[in-house]
Amino acid sequence: MLEAAIKQQLDQYLQLMEGDVVLRVSAGEDKVSNEMLELVNELASMSSRISVERATLERTPSFSVNRPSEETGIVFAGIPLGHEFTSLVLALLQVSGRAPKVDADTIKQIQNIEGTYHFESYISLSCHNCPDVVQALNVMSVLNPNITHTMIDGAAFKDEVEVKEIMAVPTVFLNGESFGNGRMSLEEILAKLGTGPDASAFSDKDPYDVLVVGGGPAGASAAVYAARKGIRTGIIAERFGGQVMDTMGIENFIGTAYTEGPKLVASLEEHVKEYGIDVMNLQRAKRLEKNDLVEIELENGAVLKSKSVILSTGARWRNVNVPGEAEFKNKGVAYCPHCDGPLFEGKRVAVIGGGNSGIEAAIDLAGIVKHVTVLEFASELKADQVLQDRLHSLPNVTVITNAQTTEITGTDKVNGISYVSRETNESHHVELEGVFVQIGLVPNTDWLDSVERNNFGEIVVDRHGATNVPGVFAAGDCTNSAYKQIIISMGSGATAALGAFDYMIRN
Ligand SMILES: Cc1cc2nc3c(=O)[nH]c(=O)nc-3n(C[C@H](O)[C@H](O)[C@H](O)COP(=O)(O)OP(=O)(O)OC[C@H]3O[C@@H](n4cnc5c(N)ncnc54)[C@H](O)[C@@H]3O)c2cc1C
Repeated sequence: MLEAAIKQQLDQYLQLMEGDVVLRVSAGEDKVSNEMLELVNELASMSSRISVERATLERTPSFSVNRPSEETGIVFAGIPLGHEFTSLVLALLQVSGRAPKVDADTIKQIQNIEGTYHFESYISLSCHNCPDVVQALNVMSVLNPNITHTMIDGAAFKDEVEVKEIMAVPTVFLNGESFGNGRMSLEEILAKLGTGPDASAFSDKDPYDVLVVGGGPAGASAAVYAARKGIRTGIIAERFGGQVMDTMGIENFIGTAYTEGPKLVASLEEHVKEYGIDVMNLQRAKRLEKNDLVEIELENGAVLKSKSVILSTGARWRNVNVPGEAEFKNKGVAYCPHCDGPLFEGKRVAVIGGGNSGIEAAIDLAGIVKHVTVLEFASELKADQVLQDRLHSLPNVTVITNAQTTEITGTDKVNGISYVSRETNESHHVELEGVFVQIGLVPNTDWLDSVERNNFGEIVVDRHGATNVPGVFAAGDCTNSAYKQIIISMGSGATAALGAFDYMIRN
């Protein structure tokens, strides 16, 4: 069943197994069951440490991966090939006794979880984001007997997927209740379970020289620049990586023709860790106060102090909040025309929003795609006249005003958009392959009151990255910078760090 090249690679991995593993298989007479039996028997033929037993499990076809004397609770329902093959190999190694690549604190955190947790993750074999979730939940099952995890291939269990109305993968259920969607790291899952550190874990932290709030490209760059000055630097991040974590292909990170978001985030993390920066991931700041030092209060009540603070909390795209938007995000629903426009070459797209960013996006896209439909809620476009003139000169653009978007439609990806005319009340549907939502960005700055912000909520900075509060600097998408891009955020992070260092020398 396995190709020769994969088998050769697998052979090397199976030699790393440290103990025996029993695969308990629940199979019927159907095609998938037969293929599953073929796979597990092939695995058993490749390693004397693997044996196969027949069993009756909750789902058929499925198989569990166990130690000879103990069920681990790891089950694969459907055949874990495609992107999930790595998850199967890791499960075999970890159940055999090889330690997962997880730090000691996280292992302890998992082992200390009390109660019963039965996770079910619905995946597809072509999903890039699913293996992270499957592997994280498998590690938790290996380390704690109270935790079980079943990976379910949606294609093999279509009825179940329909009944549970699963429209995106990965979708995770915990003890039968919806737990989460999309890519989640082990740390994020643990934080969601409420096992994160409480305020006492932060009580003995000495004041920092530079404390960065936000772990996207701006924050990572600021932290590296600060730490390279030899000063005590920390980062608080609600989710290290920021928006980049949600980006598939990046083609404008100069010097790197193509990379992927999670890959770039991994190298940012590695670079940050090289300087011994205190990274406090999955922690959200909720209050900033300037006394002798700048104080940052976290959601869990801990208060961290620092001589200077760099705010790099980024922004999030404003959602249009109609059915289909969340389901088809990254499957035709896009927010960044600079980034994702080229993926729609020769296709039909809609741009929701007739302000400057929407019309700029439409002009930009018209040069790449077959046709652009602009949908504006108001009775006229709000963009600058010069942009509107340019737009109207283009042959492949249709502008529809008074259009209230009601749904983005599709099956596995976008196939159309529905709107209601606010003039006639008539419903319309346009067939297309992509929808760009361009109704603005929302900076993550609502929690700041003493720091000056403009009408859009963006932090106002000077050319040193300084805000109106002495010792408080800002960088990246949360500021009033003209453009919001990775490389621009990194540059402004560097500026803010050098600005903060300069401030400390003078004070
Ligand atoms: C889908 C998508 C595709 C994109 N593609 C590209 C591309 O191809 N090329 C490109 O150049 N740009 C692209 N962009 C834009 C780019 O990602 C952003 O400009 C860039 O990430 C901004 O970096 P940042 O560090 O300022 O903010 P962010 O990346 O938004 O990071 C903000 C950080 O702050 C944290 N945070 C927020 N609030 C708090 C709080 N209260 N306490 C603690 N932490 C907090 C977040 O968790 C995160 O760690 C894309 C954006 C999106 C959404």
